[in-house]
Amino acid sequence: MTLDDILVEMKQAEKIVVMAHETPDGDAIGSMLSMKLALKKMGKEADVIVKEFPRTFAFLPGANTVEEKTDVEKYDLAISLDCADLKRLVGREYFEKAKKTIVIDHHSTNMMYGDINFVNPVSPACCEILAGMFEYFDIDIDVEIGSCIATGIITDTGGFKYSSVTAETFEFTAELIRKGVNISDIYQRVLETRRKSNFELLRRAMNRLELLEDDKIAFTYINKKDEEEVHAEIGDHEGIVENGRSIEGVKVSVFIREKEENLYKVSMRAGNGTNINVSDICYVFGGGGHPRAAGATVAGTVEQVKEKLVKEIKKVI
Ligand code: AMP
Ligand code: MN
Ligand code: MN
Repeated sequence: MTLDDILVEMKQAEKIVVMAHETPDGDAIGSMLSMKLALKKMGKEADVIVKEFPRTFAFLPGANTVEEKTDVEKYDLAISLDCADLKRLVGREYFEKAKKTIVIDHHSTNMMYGDINFVNPVSPACCEILAGMFEYFDIDIDVEIGSCIATGIITDTGGFKYSSVTAETFEFTAELIRKGVNISDIYQRVLETRRKSNFELLRRAMNRLELLEDDKIAFTYINKKDEEEVHAEIGDHEGIVENGRSIEGVKVSVFIREKEENLYKVSMRAGNGTNINVSDICYVFGGGGHPRAAGATVAGTVEQVKEKLVKEIKKVI
């Protein structure tokens, strides 16, 4: 499938819906909002489906236009962004009922669940794929679209520090600066600002952090009770897993967060300087992601989930 096929579908469709993965991060939000703005430049009004909008990204243009729709039947085209599989897609019902579907993503574990799938696993962010796509479509990337794209690139590269960053990442970013995008401001808002509740969650997670298997595995967790006690907001758990990976000698950092009773969302990161593929480990549990950052959902108590994960991680460290 080529970019031209995508452009044809976008031009033909009248009613378009845009969506991304659950618990959306900066790349998911940036991708949806930039796509909505780009479609607007093509003369198309698109609906964006977001059930949990992190307040961190409320400064982005178009953030206030996000609302829940009810008429699932009406879409000619559904576009899924930054989402590897249907089960993590928020608004799956809209996607499944749409006449045509497009998947644009950068996860190596993408299940290719659209009519058209445009997946580049070496792209550091879905937003970077979109930047190239909009350029190819001759859509002017203005300050508004550019700010959304920069948000995805900055968050998914940990502020340009992950090994996924390429010369192209900086070239796109340089172009965004020329367009007037304030990279420093976005960087500080999305990576350098903590809500107090986020700090309190981090404090609890750090107090509980255990180093297992000769200090090669960092493990910690957060329960619903913690989130209630600190009055956690949507997105407050983001970034906690990164702290374990920066400890010297740690090969895999694991953070688990209670989703519902006896069900945990797992976040896994490869330690600095290792070549462990955490996506392969998460795949064993029905999850996936990227080689150095991945996730899954695992059933059990904290101790049970920990045991299951450590058993798999031990095989590769
Ligand atoms: P997280 O730990 O939630 O920040 O996720 C790390 C990376 O893995 C992100 O790119 C996620 O989109 C991806 N990911 C997380 N959970 C899953 C899952 N269950 N299936 C596939 N990809 C996932
Ligand atoms: Mn994402
Ligand atoms: Mn992403």
